[in-house]
Amino acid sequence: MTEERRTKPGRCILCGTEAASFGSRTVAEGWLCGGCIEKMSPWYRLRQDAAPEELRAHLAYREENRARLPDFRPGVRLWRNPTLYLDDARRQFAVSDALTKDFPTENPDILEYGQILQCDAEIEERKTELKRFSPGLGRISYRPKRYQYRFHVWVRILVDHPFFREMRFRLNPRPLEVSGLDVAASVLGKVVKDRDYQSCAQTAEKMREALLKARDAVPNGGENAGSPAQSAGRGSERTGGRGNLRGGSGARAGITIENVSAGNRKILG
Ligand SMILES: [Zn+2]
Repeated sequence: MTEERRTKPGRCILCGTEAASFGSRTVAEGWLCGGCIEKMSPWYRLRQDAAPEELRAHLAYREENRARLPDFRPGVRLWRNPTLYLDDARRQFAVSDALTKDFPTENPDILEYGQILQCDAEIEERKTELKRFSPGLGRISYRPKRYQYRFHVWVRILVDHPFFREMRFRLNPRPLEVSGLDVAASVLGKVVKDRDYQSCAQTAEKMREALLKARDAVPNGGENAGSPAQSAGRGSERTGGRGNLRGGSGARAGITIENVSAGNRKILG
């Protein structure tokens, strides 16, 4: 970062324009301008050592994706920020913050149902100890200790895609916060009753179910003759059986709560 600020940007290695200081960055072979970076997929991780051929191939793919947008007609939408769009007729999906009318500018990646390898709904918990001020001693722990808990609701889709492996996104715009004693059960009880939490957790679960159902549904025409799209997931390892995401975690997979109660994972629903 500091190096980027000190060095005046040169020409973009992809489009050749003079890269502005703002929004551009260096890669192994030189500079990338903000315009080229903006065209990249939000799921693509731009690595420092990315070769120019890879970057060019990625931008070419993004233009091919743009050409597919007019045919993508999502009949199912699970609203949130971002929203999950499903086009059952074409067996394609997208995840985007944008409304469909803004797709031409946002260019969300259109993926085939067959590219879905796995999908999880996850609750991430972080806890911070709350302290009180004591004259002479400064900030000291309560007895018993008290914590503030922050929860985030995530959906993670593992995909078979040439440019990214994972689409992971958070459904709650703000952290869901609860303060209290370090009694996991009571904290969990409070969180579970929280309306924002419920709404996010339910949507996460609906998205997970919809994606797995989409992946496992038999395409129109019964026999899958193996269009390139539908065979995209073949040969890749799937964890768990079809339709059962967390094969090992119980007969009916649900939302997993990580790290609650001394590192245990809990499944709701
Ligand atoms: Zn450029």
